[in-house]
Amino acid sequence: MTCGTQFPATFGPPKECPICLDERQYVGLDGQQWTTLEKMRRGGWRNVYRGQGPNLIGIGTEPKFGIGQRALLLRTPQGNVLWDCISYLDEQTVAAIQNLGGISAIAISHPHYYTSMIEWSQAFGNAPVYLHESDRQWVIRPDKCIEFWSGETKSIGDGLTLLRTGGHFVGFQVLHWRDGAGGGGALLAGDQPQVAADRNWVSFMYSYPNFIPLNRPAIERIVRVLAPYEFDRLYGPFWQSIVSANAKEVVKRSADRYLKAIRG
Ligand SMILES: [Zn+2]
Repeated sequence: MTCGTQFPATFGPPKECPICLDERQYVGLDGQQWTTLEKMRRGGWRNVYRGQGPNLIGIGTEPKFGIGQRALLLRTPQGNVLWDCISYLDEQTVAAIQNLGGISAIAISHPHYYTSMIEWSQAFGNAPVYLHESDRQWVIRPDKCIEFWSGETKSIGDGLTLLRTGGHFVGFQVLHWRDGAGGGGALLAGDQPQVAADRNWVSFMYSYPNFIPLNRPAIERIVRVLAPYEFDRLYGPFWQSIVSANAKEVVKRSADRYLKAIRG
């Protein structure tokens, strides 16, 4: 229940969660807790929806579950893309999304948001789940719907490009949406760059819960990979984590500030 990752079916709770045992996550004070989708469906959980910008709908769970991120449903004339994922899924959610045209593809920034991705794919006609192959080891519930890609960029539709930035995870990917933010371009970034409390800034970490920073080459790489792409807005993982304007410039000046801070 700390990272919300779904495991394959077993007769009892798994012994441990590799994602939580990794230094980029943690196990809570009371030890690892486990639940199932069925228990959650009986236990009063539900998903809520909020507009997050033009053709972009956030889907989050109440009460808060796991890391507490919300997924994003990106609507295009060629079909809807689910960016990042959440653990909880029920019939009402499937019906609500079917009313919006369903899901044609799923892409997830990194393992902290893999959650119930297979469940989501199967609920929407085995939609392909695009992950970078460098993070293959973190897939806890393998399935044929997962399409591992290699290299540095991958197109998943007209004006939709996955960029491997590395950093937080080796295979960390962001989704560049050329026509997002009303035409100014949007970057769907997950945890990296992470939107700061002052939303005119972003930052970068190897481990967010354990406060382990990234080094200079990692930051320079992220900036270099993003350089050819225009984006006015940047969407982080939570409801409030949105850089609403000049996001590309915000990323550049934030990277400069960060590098100055670690220079010594
Ligand atoms: Zn993360």
